[in-house]
Amino acid sequence: MAPLILPVHTSAELPAATTVAIIGGGIVGLTAALTLAERGVPVTVLEKGRIAGEQSSRNLGWIRKMGRDRADIPLSLESDRLWATMPERLGADIGYRRAGIMYLARTEAEMAGHRNWLASVRDLDLDSRLLAPAEIDRLVPGGAGRWVGGIHTPSDGRAEPTLASSAVARAALTKGAVIVEDCAVRTLSTAAGRVCGVVTERGEIRCDQVLLAGGVWSRRFLGNLGLSLPALPLVASVARTAPMDGPTEIAVGAPDFSFRKRHDGGYTITQRGALVAPLMLDHLLIGHRYLSTLRAQWKNVRISLGRDLLRDLSLGRRWSGDRASPFELVRTLDPPVNDALNAEALRNLALAWPIFKDVVIRQAWAGMIDVTPDSLPVISPVAALPGLTIASGFSGHGFGTSPAAGQLAADLVTGASPIVDPDPYRFDRF
Ligand SMILES: Cc1cc2nc3c(=O)[nH]c(=O)nc-3n(C[C@H](O)[C@H](O)[C@H](O)COP(=O)(O)OP(=O)(O)OC[C@H]3O[C@@H](n4cnc5c(N)ncnc54)[C@H](O)[C@@H]3O)c2cc1C
Repeated sequence: MAPLILPVHTSAELPAATTVAIIGGGIVGLTAALTLAERGVPVTVLEKGRIAGEQSSRNLGWIRKMGRDRADIPLSLESDRLWATMPERLGADIGYRRAGIMYLARTEAEMAGHRNWLASVRDLDLDSRLLAPAEIDRLVPGGAGRWVGGIHTPSDGRAEPTLASSAVARAALTKGAVIVEDCAVRTLSTAAGRVCGVVTERGEIRCDQVLLAGGVWSRRFLGNLGLSLPALPLVASVARTAPMDGPTEIAVGAPDFSFRKRHDGGYTITQRGALVAPLMLDHLLIGHRYLSTLRAQWKNVRISLGRDLLRDLSLGRRWSGDRASPFELVRTLDPPVNDALNAEALRNLALAWPIFKDVVIRQAWAGMIDVTPDSLPVISPVAALPGLTIASGFSGHGFGTSPAAGQLAADLVTGASPIVDPDPYRFDRF
């Protein structure tokens, strides 16, 4: 069962008009809405299912700079700054803790990867540093694993995805945003070559600007408009333990497991070294764009061929605004949990830290991630369709950067000075 977010009192009414319509009530759309509402811009979020029902409630809650592409570090640094202000800004404890993140290496080749990343960001003045095995034992006691070394970033952290998403939504509502759930946007209305509204399953809303923050659905939405956003789906499975004494507050990522302390006293655990690629038509259409990443990561990807392909084909790729769209057919994407992967993660973790040997698993879930060929999101206006901005393709690490990503999207939509240079996130880079 997927994690539930605290209920938020959203609107049953659809406004006739708004200034900015946001498609998608995940953490990115919600943070953009909060930023716009704080600036006094009328904004309406339209969510086909429940807010944060997809990736934004299912993620691990890691907030990291470590391991990111160098081009993504400015957005991460701004996000760190914003996360620290969130409890006051939202009036809620969202479990944000700057408890640090550590990656471990079993082999020299893995250690070289950490060393190379550190060298690539040397001039950015991060607090990341390489660890010797004895330092790992000191920071995370009780271990039985054999590590060549690791890397640690004390200023990285975590927050609770469910608490954060609902608190951002509530704060946006308080500031005047409108959020409508169970309301899929089928397509856009245009006039004189620019966007002038959204066509929802409950009727049309006129607007000046549209922000598409639809997660894994953005590619399909854009495809119907004749635009191609390269993003392929990957599925990760996660398990949550009952509250327990654990070895550390630091979030730890080994090659074949990860764990991080939760606000409720348990741990969130995953098989960090395995993601499932459910084969779909898009793998044939744009899979070649991922070949270089795949060459480096092929050991981590497990192909699954089955019902996802049939579901994908049955959803269709072209539709008009007066017919039910794929977004109404799948209110909340809830991929099946891969119990074998969760069991692998628990086994590997218990071998490395025996305190996890007899953990009680309280919940397991899976989530589908939208991955771009360069693993950077698109946060960008669309030149071919004035009035449309995209914020999607966060490639499995968009929770951590969501405060600044949402703000950047809001900046771009309103023409405000951008919080960071948006160049790395251009749509036309593909
Ligand atoms: C298992 C897992 C672990 C992860 N771990 C981490 C982590 O530790 N740290 C990290 O930084 N990131 C992590 N991520 C990634 C992170 O969760 C995402 O990058 C982030 O949540 C993306 O937010 P979003 O708002 O773009 O997308 P989503 O949360 O997917 O939201 C998109 C929303 O748009 C809605 N929507 C789509 N199309 C329409 C439409 N046409 N009309 C109306 N609504 C629509 C969907 O229903 C959905 O609710 C993880 C992801 C998963 C799945």
